[in-house]
Amino acid sequence: MSKLSETSITNVKGIGEETANSLHSMGIESVEDLLMHLPYRYEDYRLRDISEVKHDEKITVEGKVHGEPSLMYYGKKKSRLTFRVFVGSFLVKAVCFNRPFYKNKLAINDTITLTGKWDQHRQTITVMEIHFGPLTGEKEVEPVYSVKGNITVKQMRKFIHSALGEYGDRIDDSLPPVLLHKYKLPSKKESISALHNPVNQQVLKGARRYLVYEEFLMFQLKIQALRKYQRENSQGISQKFAENDLTEFIQALPFPLTGAQSRVLNEILSDMSSPYRMNRLLQGDVGSGKTVVAAIALYASCLSGYQGALMVPTEILAEQHAQSLSGLFASISIRVELLTSSVKGKRRRELLEQLQNGEIDILIGTHALIQDEVNFARLGLVITDEQHRFGVGQRRILREKGESPDVLFMTATPIPRTLAITAFGEMDVSIIDEMPAGRKAIETYWAKHQMIDRVLSFVEKELLKGRQAYVICPLIEESEKLDVQNAIDVHDMLTHYYSGKWKIGLMHGRLNSEEKEKVMQEFSDNMAQVLVSTTVVEVGVNVPNATMMVIYDAERFGLSQLHQLRGRVGRGSEQSYCILLADPKSEVGKERMKIMTETNDGFVLSEKDLELRGPGDFFGRKQSGVPEFKVADMVHDYRALEVARQDAYDLLHSQSFWEDGQYEGLRNVIEESGVLDGEKLD
Ligand code: ADP
Ligand code: MG
Repeated sequence: MSKLSETSITNVKGIGEETANSLHSMGIESVEDLLMHLPYRYEDYRLRDISEVKHDEKITVEGKVHGEPSLMYYGKKKSRLTFRVFVGSFLVKAVCFNRPFYKNKLAINDTITLTGKWDQHRQTITVMEIHFGPLTGEKEVEPVYSVKGNITVKQMRKFIHSALGEYGDRIDDSLPPVLLHKYKLPSKKESISALHNPVNQQVLKGARRYLVYEEFLMFQLKIQALRKYQRENSQGISQKFAENDLTEFIQALPFPLTGAQSRVLNEILSDMSSPYRMNRLLQGDVGSGKTVVAAIALYASCLSGYQGALMVPTEILAEQHAQSLSGLFASISIRVELLTSSVKGKRRRELLEQLQNGEIDILIGTHALIQDEVNFARLGLVITDEQHRFGVGQRRILREKGESPDVLFMTATPIPRTLAITAFGEMDVSIIDEMPAGRKAIETYWAKHQMIDRVLSFVEKELLKGRQAYVICPLIEESEKLDVQNAIDVHDMLTHYYSGKWKIGLMHGRLNSEEKEKVMQEFSDNMAQVLVSTTVVEVGVNVPNATMMVIYDAERFGLSQLHQLRGRVGRGSEQSYCILLADPKSEVGKERMKIMTETNDGFVLSEKDLELRGPGDFFGRKQSGVPEFKVADMVHDYRALEVARQDAYDLLHSQSFWEDGQYEGLRNVIEESGVLDGEKLD
């Protein structure tokens, strides 16, 4: 007997060529696909006691027609049919629009079933559906499916019903009996059947539990198998550096490392010195001090006789990193160079040559690093900052510029745990969860736009103390041009408002990189006291004297992005402030502003952001590598996710999993996914 996944839907009764084509366009090819086309909600036709129904709720009631219906025409073809119905002992009114033909079907004392919206004040049902007769038992709750083209929900119900009848018995459990037993799960056959024919909430819940757990477990098995495979089979380099030199370097830093920095550094260094290839994600809130950790790791790589590369998403950030690393390595013979698209001509040729000769130790840059012409002599460590801004392909190209270099991804976007173990489950994770000592928490306030005058005088108070301020401009996502115009307008307004007392810088995406650098340099040298900017300052910029940030249209940003922006201040020892200008209309918008004023903890914010925005949007783009689950919901089912993760780990590390027949299905899932052929190494 062929597998359900290989049985064409045309074998199902009632599905001909044409219907099959429509179903194909929905991605439904096999009987298995059809059976797994689950309802996205249920229509509830169960009878309700009318005294318990709330205003505006949709209800189904059974009643007896009372008195003559009255029909009224209005407009061109519009009509209104009104009649009375006894529902139990209540006499209610029913109104039915534009279906005049119902009048003759309604006879006094007939039993009918009405579905419609209940208006409690008028004691009236606005009718959506009439069934001329009592409600028949089987129709109480009906599944509603997404459909496409000329297929109706009713037809879809029929197809699935037939498929269940003909093939339902052949749905096999993918989960082994041990696990079914452990979690008291129904069989897969029962679960799928229950989702299509819900009997009651209890059964529905159990069915969903099966599919959620199954989905998470399969996924976790795959990514964890990949990780295990990488660990055991990747031919990495074993970097051997002189510990003394490294310790000396760390002790010469202007500050002691925080406990968290030391901890993650040890994790990274031990990966680097081990023979397998490091594949690690370093998470740390803005300002937690990732850069210095990266610098030490890069230095270790140089001490081992290798070169290091640091790739960042913007030129500004590349320049800042180049500057601060050059500073850190000033007294050591480590050569740091910067490669961006603005390095051109002879200088570029020389640089590339020296890189290939091995004269350059550390190369910092933007996408420019992954161009064909860039060749390293001995690339040993690759670090990518804000890695979610690069595609998988770009990351791979950089990695392939060396022979199995160690790889470290850094991100200042704290990733909620649930996402971290799904989207990045194949990586090891290090977290800096501690801020350098002496930092004051940023005070955040939420103000309406009309309070701008008060806000600006607050800003001026800080300026008078010798501090500096960022003003982040209104955001119009669809148009960079309008964003730029907004920045120019705000710049003009502030120049006018502060009438020459302060120098106001202007930064936006339309400036070329020289202009950008000049603007940044001026701000960083306190030649400009205020920097008006679009969101290009989002990542990495470091001006410790800036203690004030004003964000226009704050309601348009996600929590994570606001947190990133806010992280530009609070980098020195002075008290810093962030003012959110926002007039949010929605409750969610208000909630966001409130949360921002309440916490500075990036991880708390990221969890909230995930809750409010959903996993797909978390990184702002859909291509973020966040997997899409069919049934499971990462946010609401996180407990199941944790359980599945642990189970996957235990299974993969137990001997019986690789031998016992009951696990064959799960082993096949891993094998078929191709994670063990090394193709998916990222
Ligand atoms: P991140 O890259 O994580 O946002 P940075 O590496 O830019 O943070 O560090 C922010 C600031 O904190 C920098 O000015 C850096 O010099 C400083 N810093 C880093 N580590 C420490 C530490 N252990 N103690 C004091 N200051 C530190
Ligand atoms: Mg290694």
